[in-house]
Amino acid sequence: ISSTHTSYETIDDVRQWYEPRNPFAHKGTFGSALMIGGSYGMIGAIALATHAVLRSGAGKVRALIPQCGYEIMQTAIPEAMCATSGEGCLTEIGGWEGMQAIGIGPGIGTDPTTVEAFTSFLEACKQPLVIDADALNILAKHADLLGKIPAGSVLTPHPKEFERMFGAVPDSMAQVEHARAQAMRYNISIVLKGHHTAVITPEGACWYNLTGNAGMATGGSGDVLCGLIAGLMAQGYEPDVAAIMGVYVHGKAGDLAAAALSQEAMIAGDIINYLGNVFLEIA
Ligand code: AMP
Ligand code: MG
Repeated sequence: ISSTHTSYETIDDVRQWYEPRNPFAHKGTFGSALMIGGSYGMIGAIALATHAVLRSGAGKVRALIPQCGYEIMQTAIPEAMCATSGEGCLTEIGGWEGMQAIGIGPGIGTDPTTVEAFTSFLEACKQPLVIDADALNILAKHADLLGKIPAGSVLTPHPKEFERMFGAVPDSMAQVEHARAQAMRYNISIVLKGHHTAVITPEGACWYNLTGNAGMATGGSGDVLCGLIAGLMAQGYEPDVAAIMGVYVHGKAGDLAAAALSQEAMIAGDIINYLGNVFLEIA
């Protein structure tokens, strides 16, 4: 795919990437995923992301969160394992070796000790990550960290987060071009979230998504996407494919949630609950 390639993603694209499950599979087949995030008052963000990893088909899911969220997570999501560091925010990031997918950012906050932990983590970790939310805001404030993002990683900024990281641009067309340059420079995928989310691959290809609706403009929607992309990566989808596919599935689940509940009443957790209907439609 050339660096100027632009296309509108369809369900046929997604079907072509989709891998049905081998009947003889076991949970090891679908990979281990680790979601890192949460802080006092923002445990919900990492809970939504972790729940989405499970609902996207990862084999084993673990969350790394601060102690204050431990009982919340274990109660809300019994299917996930849970490790902790720090009391109200993460102070150390470990236990990620051997994971097939790692997502970081939802609810993580920007406490200085968390920033330090995130910095050491980036020094040590060489595998592709899904980076979202406050982890992006930390990158924005410490530009020297941009060069330490592992190759192949997927960044999922909304327009404000993108602007904080890479600077302001006049309009959304210019933002896509700017994202293309950054994705190629750092060898990463950039998911420019919004209405018609654009996924830019490390080669500079741009995939526009047409699923999704304004009902998804509600707290936690982005956390669900972060978990979904990580869950697909855990199962062996390449990071850029996981991003493109994840964005489609996320928007489609949002459309089904809106059709059943209205754009007004739907909340982020409903997007998770409709992921299954989207997989049924793809398979
Ligand atoms: P965040 O701002 O991180 O919570 O992410 C919001 C998520 O909801 C992103 O995946 C957006 O693409 C999606 N979203 C928000 N508003 C809309 C909209 N008006 N149309 C389609 N998708 C939207
Ligand atoms: Mg967000």
